[in-house]
Amino acid sequence: MISEEYPLDLKSLIKKIMMKHRLLLLLFISLIAVPISAQQLQNPSEFLGYKLGSRFTRHHKVVDYFKYIAQNTDKVQFQKYGVTNELRTLAVVYVSSANNIKNLETIRKQHLTNAGIENTSELKDKAVVWLSYNVHGNEASSTEASMLTLYKLITENKKYLENTVVIMDPCINPDGRDRYANWYNQVVAAPNNNNPDAREHNEPWPSGRPNHYLFDLNRDWAWATQVETQQRLKIYNKWLPHIHVDFHEQGINNPYYFAPAVEPYHEVITDWQREFQTQIGKNHAKYFDKNGWYYFTKESFDLLYPSYGDTYPTYVGGIGMTYEQAGHGRAGLGITKRDGEILTLWDRLIHHTTSGISTVEMASKNTAKINSEFKKYFHDNDFKYKSYVLKGNKSKTNALIALLDKHEIKYGRATGKNISGYKYDTRLKGSMKTVSSDLVISTDQPKGRLVKALFEPVAKLSDSITYDITAWSLPYAYGFKAIASEKLVATSNGFTNATHSTPKRDSYAYTFEWNHISDSKLLADLLKQNFRVRFTRKEMTNSGQNLKSGSLIITRGDNKHFKNFDNALITTANKHSKYANTINSGFSDKGPDMGSSDVREIKNQKIAVLSGKYTSSLSYGEIQYFFEQEINYPYTAINTTDFSANRLDNYHTLIIPNGYYGGLFNKSTLDGLKSWIRKGGKVIAIGGANRIFANKKGFGLKTKSSNDKKDKDEKDSPIIRYEELERDRIKGSITGAIFKTNIDNSHPLGFGYGDSYFTLKQGARSYKYLKNGYNVVRLENNTAFSGFTGSKAVNNLTKSLIFGEENIGRGSIIYMVDNPLFRAFWDNGKLFFANAIFYTNPSMKKL
Ligand SMILES: [Zn+2]
Repeated sequence: MISEEYPLDLKSLIKKIMMKHRLLLLLFISLIAVPISAQQLQNPSEFLGYKLGSRFTRHHKVVDYFKYIAQNTDKVQFQKYGVTNELRTLAVVYVSSANNIKNLETIRKQHLTNAGIENTSELKDKAVVWLSYNVHGNEASSTEASMLTLYKLITENKKYLENTVVIMDPCINPDGRDRYANWYNQVVAAPNNNNPDAREHNEPWPSGRPNHYLFDLNRDWAWATQVETQQRLKIYNKWLPHIHVDFHEQGINNPYYFAPAVEPYHEVITDWQREFQTQIGKNHAKYFDKNGWYYFTKESFDLLYPSYGDTYPTYVGGIGMTYEQAGHGRAGLGITKRDGEILTLWDRLIHHTTSGISTVEMASKNTAKINSEFKKYFHDNDFKYKSYVLKGNKSKTNALIALLDKHEIKYGRATGKNISGYKYDTRLKGSMKTVSSDLVISTDQPKGRLVKALFEPVAKLSDSITYDITAWSLPYAYGFKAIASEKLVATSNGFTNATHSTPKRDSYAYTFEWNHISDSKLLADLLKQNFRVRFTRKEMTNSGQNLKSGSLIITRGDNKHFKNFDNALITTANKHSKYANTINSGFSDKGPDMGSSDVREIKNQKIAVLSGKYTSSLSYGEIQYFFEQEINYPYTAINTTDFSANRLDNYHTLIIPNGYYGGLFNKSTLDGLKSWIRKGGKVIAIGGANRIFANKKGFGLKTKSSNDKKDKDEKDSPIIRYEELERDRIKGSITGAIFKTNIDNSHPLGFGYGDSYFTLKQGARSYKYLKNGYNVVRLENNTAFSGFTGSKAVNNLTKSLIFGEENIGRGSIIYMVDNPLFRAFWDNGKLFFANAIFYTNPSMKKL
């Protein structure tokens, strides 16, 4: 059964085929009209023409197999739900008894009635299981397993389908998977070589793990920055399955991992969710034991960070689990492990097939309990904080609303009352007077637990050893003034995020505010259309308006080359939902006049970004995504292997992503870079890229070192037991915690911000304030506002640099110690990056 988002135009297709070949037409009609009985269905090997596991299947063939099965049985329905950046198909199949497939929509509504989202009779005796494969593209055995799992479900395991709807997404990340599969198929030896030294076991940068923009899709569920996530959430929210499995792979020498997960667990996880993962794990163990396969549970993989494929489903009612098979981008078709045994693709896929079917079995055998517990989950949302009240400018509010909509989280407007509670910016009790543009998000809604997980100021940690960042609270990430209230806050409806300007025409100039990343998208668009744009470096008052530093000014006098300047400008403003103000005169009542050197023109910038070997692919991807998707502005990626300072003469700015540059910047390269900066070039260094300059002659960046006296340290240190070593090690680490910093917003890097900023710090490395530079964003106090910080790690953070600028000759370096583009979710950091590009020491150099 096929239902596509873009249904085939059958008539025209048949007509075309008829003209070409009558026989084909007959075959075609017989295929769609007469379902083949299950005995005749081709298994994956028969369909593909090679034995499953003997090569990596390209994504389109996987889609073909799922479509073929859907066309030939009434137990499977195919649904395309979108396309990737590289236009590959995203699709799921629904697998169940023919009767259930017929009544899919009724079952869905009954299921969501238990969640309080729909309002019909309640589902009692059917389970909904969602299996997601290959989120990391080079963990490629699971998509192979998905084909066998589908086949086995509708043949030998069809009894489970009587009371279970299985939703299968054969590949969450098709672009990454094909990057891996195509590469592997090109380099594999014949026969394949099991020696780990062979090139088929050593993937080149950036590997197949991430998606097109090199984002880790298993870190993106909650932030939904990527098209794969955005399109998936639309159907995921239609189903909110009882159980969700995310299939992965890990190092080649590891045994199989399945649930239960290890602490820390997030507080919103219920006892039932904990308990049922254990029951499912025990069922897998039964099959793995029978085959003599090794596995482990309760280690390594925790349930805290809300943006994984196990936690996110858990925070919206499901039992979310990660299964990990040994393999990964190293294993290929076969590889010799440490113990001398050979791990084959077939081993990998049969393990994932076994755990997948065992999961469905457990769902099918526990439908009554699963449904009653699912219902309880949604009706028991009694948390300490009932409402979160957020105050911010319109652009920030619009950005957050867009995210809430993706998760189908409800929100409302504040009603003008005074609200008291926990204040995010002081960590103290206090109150805030609300206005109707303030946003209120409460936990008394079906997505209440997700609201708590995303908005609460501090996530409670039951254990400090975790896999990822420990703080992500959205009011900090978006830069809102916020209060968490222990009482439910009343709201009114009616947020609209569209802005339509109808400014007075024929005035002296148009102006725009500058306080959100979306303002730089408007700027980028204006520059691309050859508007001449200025910005003010000092606050001013003109025509009764207050223009803060950084405000955009587009004068009529500058733009005589436009036939209809007003129309062109207003159209662009409306396209970006930005409000255009006008001023009547070049004469300012306060601050610089329009002709002042403080009202500077912004020229188009030619930007180079280092890419490839040595750069962190995640960081490079974040920059690529920033330019292409967030502000739509051109840049040139230069491979590190082609890099030399001589090439930079054609650019204003070089951006160096986070990375591990080792020998790439030797003395002569660094000297070349420095002389380019002297001539007016600008470098923006992110995270690890700052190590290129730290403590080097001619650069002002200096690492902070521990002030602790060594002997004191030794005296105080207790003897550490071997088994406690890992716990001791984390005392020196920060795995993503939120700190309050101070901003010098008179510097262009700080334009558009207030006097403080909450930064997400991901490591303990820290740098002193610049002696001969601008310390624009500074961490003065080392107390984390949210998240885990190792007791030893925070020592060096007091009075350390977060973002700063050092002038060298006519150019400069912008040091960004923390990464403002991390996973593209820290909304409030992005404007610093735009400021660094367009406002800070803007080169007027003609190229
Ligand atoms: Zn993975």
